[in-house]
Amino acid sequence: MQNTFAMIKPDAVSKKYSGKIIDMVEQNGFDIVRMHKVRLTKEGAHQLYAIHKDRPFFNEMVDFITSGPLIIMVLAKDNAIQAWRDLLGATDPSKAAPGTIRSMFGSSIGNNAAHGSDSPENAAQELKLFFPDLK
Ligand code: UDP
Ligand code: MG
Repeated sequence: MQNTFAMIKPDAVSKKYSGKIIDMVEQNGFDIVRMHKVRLTKEGAHQLYAIHKDRPFFNEMVDFITSGPLIIMVLAKDNAIQAWRDLLGATDPSKAAPGTIRSMFGSSIGNNAAHGSDSPENAAQELKLFFPDLK
């Protein structure tokens, strides 16, 4: 079993899609190890998105991710990091495969419903940032 870090973003939380997304998590064989509803501070957002600090949309991302509550989760499954990325679909919901979370619940490349760690290194870093007491 592997852990990954997942997040239901403020757009999906405010549209009341959390339950549908959590249902997909469970129906696709992930165990929910931890789950919290939180607000991110600007500082927390800067830490989460540190790898994107030089991208042109950085400030927009920070404003969006701090705009409302989000749901953070630790998910466990065999090969969880890749499996969760596959279930998310492409970053741009209009390019995400049918049946993926972003295709079903995302509305734009910025408001794309959910997040998932993209590598073991980033998963370790994101899990440590949000769930420092884990393991
Ligand atoms: N993003 C954006 N505009 C872009 C590219 C990305 O607003 O042109 C946002 C989007 O919400 C994405 C996040 O920045 O989920 C992180 O980008 P990344 O390329 O890491 O995509 P992801 O790993 O989330 O698929
Ligand atoms: Mg990414």
